[in-house]
Amino acid sequence: MGKSLKARLLILLGMGILVTSGCSKSDIYNEDAVKSSLATETIVTEVASYEAASTESETTESPSSEVTETEVFSIEETSSEESLEEEISTEATEENLSDSSDADNKIISMDHSWKYADFSKINDGTATLYYADPPIAKGITICINAGHGTKGGTDVKTQCHPDGSAKVTGGSTAEGSTMATAVSTGTTMLDGTPEATVTLKASLAAKKALLEAGYNVLMIRESDDVQLDNIARTVIANNIADCHIAIHYDSSENNKGVFFCGVPDNKAYRSMEPVATHWQDHERLGKCLIDGLRSNSLKINGNGEIPIDLTQTSYSTIPSIDLEIGDRASDYSDATLSTTSAGIVDGINAFFQ
Ligand SMILES: [Zn+2]
Repeated sequence: MGKSLKARLLILLGMGILVTSGCSKSDIYNEDAVKSSLATETIVTEVASYEAASTESETTESPSSEVTETEVFSIEETSSEESLEEEISTEATEENLSDSSDADNKIISMDHSWKYADFSKINDGTATLYYADPPIAKGITICINAGHGTKGGTDVKTQCHPDGSAKVTGGSTAEGSTMATAVSTGTTMLDGTPEATVTLKASLAAKKALLEAGYNVLMIRESDDVQLDNIARTVIANNIADCHIAIHYDSSENNKGVFFCGVPDNKAYRSMEPVATHWQDHERLGKCLIDGLRSNSLKINGNGEIPIDLTQTSYSTIPSIDLEIGDRASDYSDATLSTTSAGIVDGINAFFQ
């Protein structure tokens, strides 16, 4: 990405950290900065020989002294033997953007130089970035992450927090754990359908609605299996999208209503980076989405928020939430998912207003 633009956006985000309550317009998101950031193309980078990158930098600089062989390519074109510095320069980024400007989608692979990438254990799969039609495009990219759906994901463990500390709440992984299942299987709907099948159906409906509303959509998964664990999904979203919504169904079975997994009100957790810098943005995104869903007459559980310490939240450097759009007993007909998608679009519109 354009590093200077990304850095500018991060500075703006940092400046706005104290200005979040509810789903109201704030000055955190300078529209021009967001659009400028989005106007740049992320180079898909494959690092053939790689030693652990520093996780201290907010930008995506590759440690040139630690990379011995790097291949940078766009989908349409593979660049040849240039130095690493040249390949990651702004000029190269802009060139790749123009090369792919007429494409309506692009395959996104993990770039192992991205911050936190080395915490991921399953990352051979690819996501797909879909571009809104230019006449209506807003220049904002929404990551839709259909929960679960990674074969072998339960056999692998990843670190719950980047600093190695223990989970501060229960959830699918117990409080006090430092390692969690890389991607869990998920629940089963009362009709026997796996949650992963339903989250995919819901995510495809959300993708359609968001594209029609002018948002680019980064789809983490569009089939039964994507080889991207929860950290890989989060890292890709961090670097490609402007916000990240993971779609799930809760394991309860009383159709209790929609909620998002809020950031636990725990001092240590909210002091840990990147949570410290971003938790208020996560909360505001969640509240905007709940407002949007409520305004479309979706049933909301309580105040729409249940605090849970999630791997996704623990590694997110963009506004990011797990949205539980129902539970095992919930209806997931086309009509309901269309309404849910409309609510998500309304929430996103409010968030980026
Ligand atoms: Zn789930």
